[in-house]
Amino acid sequence: MTAPSSSMDIGVPAAVRSLPRIALLTTGGTIAGAAASESDSLRYAAGALGGDALLRAVPALARIAQIETIAVAAIDSKDADPAFWCALTETVRATRARDDIDGIVITHGTDTLEESAYWLDLMLAAGKPVVLTAAMRPATALSADGPANLFDAVTLAGDTSARDLGVLVTLQNRIHAARDIVKVSSHALDAFASPAGGPLGWVQDGRVGWLRRRHLASLTARDETGSTPSSPLRQTLFGEVPSGASGDRLEARLHVRRLQPSDLPDVEVVVQYGGASPHLIDALLTHGVRGIVVAGTGNGTVNAALMAAMQRAVAAGVIVIRSSRAADVHVSANAAVDDDGEGFVASGTLNPYKARIRLMLALAVGLSERSAMQACFNLA
Ligand code: ASP
Repeated sequence: MTAPSSSMDIGVPAAVRSLPRIALLTTGGTIAGAAASESDSLRYAAGALGGDALLRAVPALARIAQIETIAVAAIDSKDADPAFWCALTETVRATRARDDIDGIVITHGTDTLEESAYWLDLMLAAGKPVVLTAAMRPATALSADGPANLFDAVTLAGDTSARDLGVLVTLQNRIHAARDIVKVSSHALDAFASPAGGPLGWVQDGRVGWLRRRHLASLTARDETGSTPSSPLRQTLFGEVPSGASGDRLEARLHVRRLQPSDLPDVEVVVQYGGASPHLIDALLTHGVRGIVVAGTGNGTVNAALMAAMQRAVAAGVIVIRSSRAADVHVSANAAVDDDGEGFVASGTLNPYKARIRLMLALAVGLSERSAMQACFNLA
């Protein structure tokens, strides 16, 4: 397969020189997993193969891109943590800033894909495409899904229509927004969905098509005439701060921040279920956490014991976010629970794990007041 920046030198045919230049950042996961036998799709070592081995499995990539591989990590994504996310962010930023790179593809494990994608979505400014992909079957398996997903991810990252859309994820021919994608199956090949609004588009056989983006683009065009400066719909879709609203947008602060793992406060997730006890929340308070995300039932509801523990947390100065353990989350503020009265924050359509990331990053840049935090989640 092609190599890197050096491939732009004299001696490279013009047809190759005009192909998009993609950096493939590898982090591990099943897409780079190897098993002892091709009939084994459950027992394997995640992250065993390097970027060059991934490229060798897809010779057709040479027709669509010039690719440089950069090894960031070789982990099973269950081990992703703030240190990994900080390092990944810095590598993406540095690579994206290079004049000889047009787009970024990141291979990742499926298990925490939605967390890493959302973290990057918050940390990276608009610009060159950043596309994550993954696989449910190891690279050595019968009908491995990684090669096709990788081909689609490179197609998308090399397509200028994917610029400025935030971090994207592609699997199984679908394009998802990092903000929306959720792993919905522990085992099926088609393991991902965007419950809140569906996929953004599709990518197949080297072609890219948009479903929701067309709508966003037409809204942008209308606004650029100056007639509708900042409509409520734009505020919702693009997270714009309504004129006159206090506080700025979290993302604007994060784009200019270089975070160290030690900047990230301790924020944990607690689940509500039949008979859930307050012990975990009380232990977290003893431990001194800065935030607790509660994966409640339904519209973020909890039993009396958890409610009392959450009230103790608020009294101790801890930010308490109400999210839901449901697969398709929409927790409304001041509906099932009086959030303003209790001092809680409703997560809106962010699931508990994405809400945790937003809360960690908001706390890291100095947001700590409850109503400012709710405003920050309203703009998520
Ligand atoms: N355990 C793997 C990981 O997340 C699963 C996968 O990639 O599908 O790294």
